[in-house]
Amino acid sequence: MTTQTYTGSCHCGDVKFEVDLDLAEGGGKCNCSICRKTRNWSASVKPDAFRLLSDTAATTDYFRNGVVHWPFCKTCGVRPYGYGDIPEAGGPFVSVQLACLDDVDSQALAEAPVRYANGRDNDWWHEPSDAEKAFL
Ligand SMILES: [Zn+2]
Repeated sequence: MTTQTYTGSCHCGDVKFEVDLDLAEGGGKCNCSICRKTRNWSASVKPDAFRLLSDTAATTDYFRNGVVHWPFCKTCGVRPYGYGDIPEAGGPFVSVQLACLDDVDSQALAEAPVRYANGRDNDWWHEPSDAEKAFL
């Protein structure tokens, strides 16, 4: 595993972060209600690999399901990261939107593997159908 430090932000720049991750590990897409509607493609890291460089006051926290916080920028609405603590999935984590990384090499992003999960049915270790995967 070769981690690299990336910077990321929302669209307007009010939310900024730094994250250490290995793009070769790829990111996850899922068909649960929020991932599907936001076309989420994200990589999960341990909290100490994520540094928020802006004030949390720039975001509104969206915590509808009581499991994962999905703060979004109050100004532009972009949702650069989420965080939570799911013991069955390894404990505390931060999930970073790969599309919000600013200094990432396009080729490296194109080669990053995509892992699909059937979150809608709480069946996290299996992929949704090919038709569903096509629009995640
Ligand atoms: Zn913004």
